[in-house]
Amino acid sequence: MSSKGQKNQNIQVFVRARPINATEKGRGSFSIVETSDHTVTVKERPQDKITKNFTFDRVFGPKSKQVDVYRKVVMPLLEQVLLGYNCTVFAYGQTGTGKTFTMEGERCESELPWDQDPGLGIIPRTLSQLFDELRIQGVEFTVRVSFLELYNEELFDLLGPETDTTRLRLYEDAQKKGSCIIHGLEEVTVHNKNDVYEILRLGSQKRQTAATLMNAHSSRSHTVFSVTVHIKENTVDGEELLKTGKLNLVDLAGSENVGRSGAVDRRAREAGNINQSLLTLGRVITSLVERAPHVPYRESKLTRLLQDSLGGRTKTSIIAAISPASCNLEETLSTLDYAQRAK
Ligand code: ADP
Ligand code: MG
Repeated sequence: MSSKGQKNQNIQVFVRARPINATEKGRGSFSIVETSDHTVTVKERPQDKITKNFTFDRVFGPKSKQVDVYRKVVMPLLEQVLLGYNCTVFAYGQTGTGKTFTMEGERCESELPWDQDPGLGIIPRTLSQLFDELRIQGVEFTVRVSFLELYNEELFDLLGPETDTTRLRLYEDAQKKGSCIIHGLEEVTVHNKNDVYEILRLGSQKRQTAATLMNAHSSRSHTVFSVTVHIKENTVDGEELLKTGKLNLVDLAGSENVGRSGAVDRRAREAGNINQSLLTLGRVITSLVERAPHVPYRESKLTRLLQDSLGGRTKTSIIAAISPASCNLEETLSTLDYAQRAK
């Protein structure tokens, strides 16, 4: 809720709790999270029956399916993209809570054609749906994708040649105020569904190679998968109408160093583990929610490169991923507090 008591309808906040896993159970942990369609209840001190409640636009419990998340979160945004708007989906949360599972997914039934696998995450589902939708509309279109990684405030192309770990440069677009150009970023034209799987596979592979070469941790990097759609329509009076929409699908770095107040934890700061982009994103979202006159887009690479897809007429959705286990209580509360502030 903004300070003026008026919700910013362009920002939607979702929570997804994954199932408790064997490691957590093995450590004597138990589930302290209960979910309903719109609420999360955390049993902070189960022995004293002390609980905390949070409300969101939608909550996905441990039994939720990939397709449920896609339908509720992404389908409404894809409609906007096809009308020519830019939208962004963020996966936020502690490492190991299901951000990548939600964004990319995992294959679970290898005998099915790839685009029918129930394990598919948001990225492959979006592309697959997009082609279906464009075919139905019967319009002329082009679909382009890019996939980049942001590590230590440096940008890397995940679709360029595999051994290439050159840092990309970010420039302001002189022609389009509030937009950035990423010099040298590979934009791949996707012709049909079948191209998609291969592109994603190459992207993940390159991410792994690059991480090894740079001694980097994937938990500390952000990835941004962007889909741009150009649609050519003929209006009734015979004119050509060009529409361009973009969807950014962002798998954020682990939030474990961001404290309950939204500031970096002291120990993390001393260890030099400040994630400038993650912190600035929090401030940008707060400014948008509060409709503040100044939005600090320019203070990090992530918010600079997403500036044309955050705020204004664009729609933004945040999926906060949490673990249900008692051993993660502090991080879970921290994530839920962060997500709540975005409302
Ligand atoms: P993150 O990207 O947030 O670090 P991952 O997506 O890699 O976390 O998930 C960590 C582990 O939990 C993976 O082994 C993944 O398969 C599993 N997992 C995450 N979310 C779910 C879910 N909703 N259902 C089943 N397994 C999940
Ligand atoms: Mg991940």
